[in-house]
Amino acid sequence: MKFAEVDGRKLNGYNRINAATILPNTNMIRIIKKQGESCPIIKCDICQEAITDASNAAALDLSMEYNEGAESEVLHVHKGKCDEEAKRRFGRFLPWTELSDHLIWVAHNADLSPAKMQTRQKMMREIGAL
Ligand SMILES: [Zn+2]
Repeated sequence: MKFAEVDGRKLNGYNRINAATILPNTNMIRIIKKQGESCPIIKCDICQEAITDASNAAALDLSMEYNEGAESEVLHVHKGKCDEEAKRRFGRFLPWTELSDHLIWVAHNADLSPAKMQTRQKMMREIGAL
């Protein structure tokens, strides 16, 4: 097994690896100003480009902890070259989820139902944010 190496220390899959240790620009939800509005986007944690097609992106779980209540950081990446680069940098397999499923779970866990989303989306269309 390959191990990520940070500052001369070899990290194995059981070390709690902080994303910022290996990738300085994570948590890539950003706001782009567009037509006078604030438009949130997700940027790829590897290439820093906007993810504009959720079906071609993934959420990578950085933790190898599966105990109840365990919390882990996540990377949002394009599938293919970018998720392969993430695995190379962390030196191991990273459990992953389709980005579209990940975002649905985020919305669900924030109590944002499809009905609430439709209401908000209609408002956004009316002001031209989408
Ligand atoms: Zn990318």
